[in-house]
Amino acid sequence: MSSSKVLEDLSRVVRETASDCEIYKKQCVNIEYDFDATVKEPALGEIPYVPWSFFKQSNNLFKNLIRGDSFEKLSFWMESSSTCGDPSIVGRLDSDIEVLKENYNTVFNSFSKKDDVNNLILFAPGMAIINKIRHNFHGKDAYLLYKSIVDIWDGKNVNFLLQFFLAKTIRKMITTRKARAVIGINGKLLKSELNRIERKGIPTIMANSPLWMHKVLNDYYQKENRTFDLSEHFYIITGGGGWDGTKGRVKLGYNVNKEEFIEQMCDMFHITTDKFCDNFAATESPLACGGHWSKRYNDFVLHVNHEKGRIVIRDVESLEPIKATGEPGILELITPYGVDSYAGVAVLLDDIVQVENWEQCPECGRVGAIFRVIGRLTPSIGKGCSSLFSLDSHKL
Ligand SMILES: [Zn+2]
Repeated sequence: MSSSKVLEDLSRVVRETASDCEIYKKQCVNIEYDFDATVKEPALGEIPYVPWSFFKQSNNLFKNLIRGDSFEKLSFWMESSSTCGDPSIVGRLDSDIEVLKENYNTVFNSFSKKDDVNNLILFAPGMAIINKIRHNFHGKDAYLLYKSIVDIWDGKNVNFLLQFFLAKTIRKMITTRKARAVIGINGKLLKSELNRIERKGIPTIMANSPLWMHKVLNDYYQKENRTFDLSEHFYIITGGGGWDGTKGRVKLGYNVNKEEFIEQMCDMFHITTDKFCDNFAATESPLACGGHWSKRYNDFVLHVNHEKGRIVIRDVESLEPIKATGEPGILELITPYGVDSYAGVAVLLDDIVQVENWEQCPECGRVGAIFRVIGRLTPSIGKGCSSLFSLDSHKL
């Protein structure tokens, strides 16, 4: 697929979305967007965008972001991975979900070893829990984004570490008189699985939120001072953000410093920094940006796949596009693919990032913009909201 193909498709999808989604049409009219103008690389910032807040449950606009007659055909609502607070809700068709999964797949294979590795330690809940904590909006089921990520690993030997703890739930019900499930990391399973893969030399990927990994493994390391020799066959894929202590919109009161995380994992598993992959993605867009650890920046450098989309960075105050490198701004994800069901062609997120190169990554040579995540526009949202998930592991 050539790079100009993306721009041509963008031009078409912007026009189509404006014709079958009232909210998007309004965004276009507001800025007097010229649909006949050719979409060009330097003018990507002119494409009308939808701010992330439009997807928030509390704004109750998410149904209006559905395009044309897609509502009846929706597979399900996809919900950002916090089950309290104010999640983003995105309606998706099967075909759009396939594009999202394909984008994640490409990242996991290009920046890690997904297809070559059959054993997985996933810091995520299994399907039974995901199905249990589903919501329903406008008569359609809503699932956490996890559902689609778990699908991606289908066919592999997956150890789901996030589990439901019956005894703890009952104890909590007795003490608090509230029916609330306790879901946390199964430390016993993590420990036995790590021992097994070391003993048998089984190639393994450990994946999902760095929040869980850091907290749980740090506790384990502190307690037993145990390290593992997994140097040749252990890969770590982080995703879903969480570096600044926010997971979805839930503040877990725990910070993960990226450098410290990398150092700790390298020490504990005797691995090198090339074994790490970070995946930047948002519920509101199907685009996925893969990252590798950069010694130059002491940070994950994230890559925009040139064949799948583009990004724009906007000034925090004026929202004008920032063309320079090394300047922080709000991230906007743009893609014509996987947005048949809703107005997701251009979405302004609440993440503050910094582009380091607009053309290519000087370290790995991949074509397309590279950026680093600097922070978040709304770090305090989610405070005071109790999470469904507990960060403490059990039986470790
Ligand atoms: Zn690179």
